[in-house]
Amino acid sequence: MTAVRDSAVRIGLIYPELLGTYGDRGNAIVLVQRTRWRGIPAELVEVDAGEPIPDSLDVYIFGGGEDDPMEMAGAGMRESKANIERAHTNGAVVLAVCGGYQLIGNRYIAADGEILEGIGLVDVETRAGSPRLIGELVAAPSDDVNWGEFGPPRALTGFENHGGRTSLGAGVAPLGRVLAGGGNGDGTKTEGVLAERIIGTYLHGPVLARNAELADRIIAWVAGSIPPLEATLEQSLRADRLDAAMVRGVHKWWRDRMLARG
Ligand code: GLN
Repeated sequence: MTAVRDSAVRIGLIYPELLGTYGDRGNAIVLVQRTRWRGIPAELVEVDAGEPIPDSLDVYIFGGGEDDPMEMAGAGMRESKANIERAHTNGAVVLAVCGGYQLIGNRYIAADGEILEGIGLVDVETRAGSPRLIGELVAAPSDDVNWGEFGPPRALTGFENHGGRTSLGAGVAPLGRVLAGGGNGDGTKTEGVLAERIIGTYLHGPVLARNAELADRIIAWVAGSIPPLEATLEQSLRADRLDAAMVRGVHKWWRDRMLARG
């Protein structure tokens, strides 16, 4: 049964001018549309850079950004930290991609040593590293956490492009285990972070267009039980992207083997 709501689901797209690389705006569009397709009213709320982030949103979407826009976005996020925390405590969901993921953590340490403080919503820390991790990324979602009524989604695919290496604090769960690509890139073969109604990830694509099952987990977290949707197009896109990533996985295996043999 669909949860009864007295207002539209408010999908917040935070600082899209600063945090919006590789089509991350699409995550908000996907959530609005897949919520409406269930007959549940949903609205897209854009919070422009420089504006305070309100505590009244149901979903907070932070996209990726390079170091300079990240610095500007980080300042605004820190000023609105109490609002974001209050909303999350009251049931809101946070989806943060790449630079946004780094900013919901404790800090990002840039290549020149400059420390950019995050909002500490999750206990992770990112340090700039080399080389950049670029290309298709596939992760098997963690299945030892409570995903809600649908259980874990199937393998997640996306595109990554980041220099940051992210380490998770003790007891912090990753979003998944890396099957191809870099992910958190700290040597643990993990990708992203998953906490109560919080997802941090390096998956662009946009991630929710490429992984409709993940989008539906998020919608269920805020709107309650939702019926499934017909998914032919979404599944063919997913199959296509998995094929592309597997080619990369094989190449990487071959390259690693060649390197190991000298
Ligand atoms: N500056 C960060 C990094 O390179 C974020 C990059 C991004 O969001 N695409 O690690």
